[in-house]
Amino acid sequence: MATATLTIDLDEIAANWRTLDRMTESETAAVVKADAYGLGAHRVARALAREGVRSFFVAIAEEGAALRQALGPGPAINVFSGHMPGDADMINDLELTPMLNSVDQLIRHVEALPGAPFGLQLDSGMNRLGMEPAEWAAVRDIALAQNPTLVMTHLACADDPEHPMNAAQLQNFREMTDGIEAPRSLANTGGVLMGPDYHFDLARPGIGLYGGLPYVDARPVVTLEIPVIQCRDIEAGETVGYGNDYSAPEPRRIATISAGYADGIIRAMGPNARVFAEDTPCPVTGRISMDLIGVDITALAEDPKSVELLGLHQSIDTLADAAGSIGYEILTSLGPRYTRRYLGG
Ligand SMILES: *Cc1c(COP(=O)(O)O)cnc(C)c1O
Repeated sequence: MATATLTIDLDEIAANWRTLDRMTESETAAVVKADAYGLGAHRVARALAREGVRSFFVAIAEEGAALRQALGPGPAINVFSGHMPGDADMINDLELTPMLNSVDQLIRHVEALPGAPFGLQLDSGMNRLGMEPAEWAAVRDIALAQNPTLVMTHLACADDPEHPMNAAQLQNFREMTDGIEAPRSLANTGGVLMGPDYHFDLARPGIGLYGGLPYVDARPVVTLEIPVIQCRDIEAGETVGYGNDYSAPEPRRIATISAGYADGIIRAMGPNARVFAEDTPCPVTGRISMDLIGVDITALAEDPKSVELLGLHQSIDTLADAAGSIGYEILTSLGPRYTRRYLGG
């Protein structure tokens, strides 16, 4: 079998949630948008619900609808994109809670589904989603009179605790919400790590659950093992792969492994990437193909049956560095061809 195996440890995701939960006095929700950052929202959310998570967040109503089928009634499923045209039936039938982002969304929601739960998202400076301060001032009393389940905002620079934007957004959010009765939420993973000022009533970590920065102490969650299809010796001056990008400076042994950019192994990372055979790093040689990658196994005593791209030797953030990217993109790029194995849960 030439299929690579992606192992996802649900117990480690649960352990990361527990540790983040212990850092705050607030409720700790779980962000499972984009199929739980590519790791499988059904399995991840069910494991987290068993662990005690009572609120989940997704990006769009369709994700929420699918998640409700997996979770059954009970947990809150909050939708960051709010109430879009065509969402009313899904919101109603599957008991989703839209985080309303504008006066238009507020009107749409109360007209279509009077009395149905909703939250509110405010823009504290990121200029991505949420009501602007002036808009908020105009509808604040009407909106709060209907008891929103949550009033939230989102940090633009939480991965950099020293960034002055964090304090500025905190102050804006306070000015917009101090004294209200509704529960408030500001912190993503980075916000949780920045301490109690940022915690409010509910924290919304995503990447930290899945083992990524800025949660430095996160436990790794994914392992990606790629089978070796073929090994060969090459002479000094011979090349490997498309475009002859790699030319051997001296005799080398090359393994061809069974995964490529179609599996989310970003092509641009080629010159900086490596895989591991047990503890030995094996650099990628030449361009990453759609389904295949050449790696230099000269340092090994024996040809490996498979190599590790992600796991204890190489984190999602180390691999992201090789691609000039972030752990979030490595996870959400993980392709559909892998055999997915879940541990624990
Ligand atoms: C994605 C997202 C989160 C989770 O952020 P992490 O950095 O992954 O912890 C929280 N809130 C909002 C609004 C988001 O879009």
